[in-house]
Amino acid sequence: MFDISGKIAVVTGGGGVLGSSISRSLLEAGVKVMMLDIRQEVLDTRIAEVKHLGDVDGLVCNVLDMESLRLVRDKIVAKWGRIDILVNVAGGNLPGATLTEEQTIFDMKIEDYTKVTDLNLNGTVFPSLVFGEAMANSKEGSIINISSMATYSAITRVMGYSVAKTGVNIFTQWMAMEMAMKFGDKIRVNAIAPGFFIGDQNRAILINPDGSYTERSKKVIAKTPMKRFGDISELNGLVQFLCSNAASFITGAIIPVDGGFSSFSGV
Ligand code: NAD
Repeated sequence: MFDISGKIAVVTGGGGVLGSSISRSLLEAGVKVMMLDIRQEVLDTRIAEVKHLGDVDGLVCNVLDMESLRLVRDKIVAKWGRIDILVNVAGGNLPGATLTEEQTIFDMKIEDYTKVTDLNLNGTVFPSLVFGEAMANSKEGSIINISSMATYSAITRVMGYSVAKTGVNIFTQWMAMEMAMKFGDKIRVNAIAPGFFIGDQNRAILINPDGSYTERSKKVIAKTPMKRFGDISELNGLVQFLCSNAASFITGAIIPVDGGFSSFSGV
């Protein structure tokens, strides 16, 4: 019931850290993977790294552009016949939308705040609508969104990101309900809420130039019962599970992968 070989997956943000790791893991499980990214050069690099593993391709696509998404969807359906899996990974924070220790909420750069909320919320909503329509037509599919620890309780400095990812949570529940009620019980929509993983977007605020932990990192570790950061590959098991029949009655769930961070009060 965990077998997902032969399925067709679309991974947005496939050129990034998480997206390429998820793509690799799906390929290793026998899934055909279409990686989407706004940057051609990262797609080329990532595809070269994994093409020996199976059937993989990439397309440049802006997840905020419905027309670009529809074109890509039609190309994938023409190439592989259907879309079984969508993993919405494109997203992330921007330096201007992250407050420094000294700043207050009133110093937020509204332009960056708007960009971050747009990418992290609509960058998941728009692809879900476009690829979800293909799933509705075939009455089958699994959509996986990426939420965040910033949706359980407030995390300092990252307001726009937190607001948008919390929007992703309710959108996940909302679309799960809508798909099941209107298109049957074979289309599922869930989200993964990663704990703290060192990635390109957060490295500077978690790791000092000399490699030691920042004060913020130390606070994260203090509130993580497992006492460590996650390894990006530790998200892959849940992605595969949510794509498989083993998760056939799971929809609208937001599942933490966080070493216990969200369950621990800190005391
Ligand atoms: P990343 O920056 O390595 O990858 C994001 C990718 O999305 C990039 O390749 C980028 O080119 C692409 N992208 C950006 N805008 C796009 C657009 N408009 N259209 C298409 N592609 C676009 O980031 P990551 O660390 O892999 O994180 C991916 C997701 O996981 C994000 O949603 C992030 O918020 C979330 N996340 C990451 C962590 C972490 O610790 N790294 C933790 C929790 C959640």
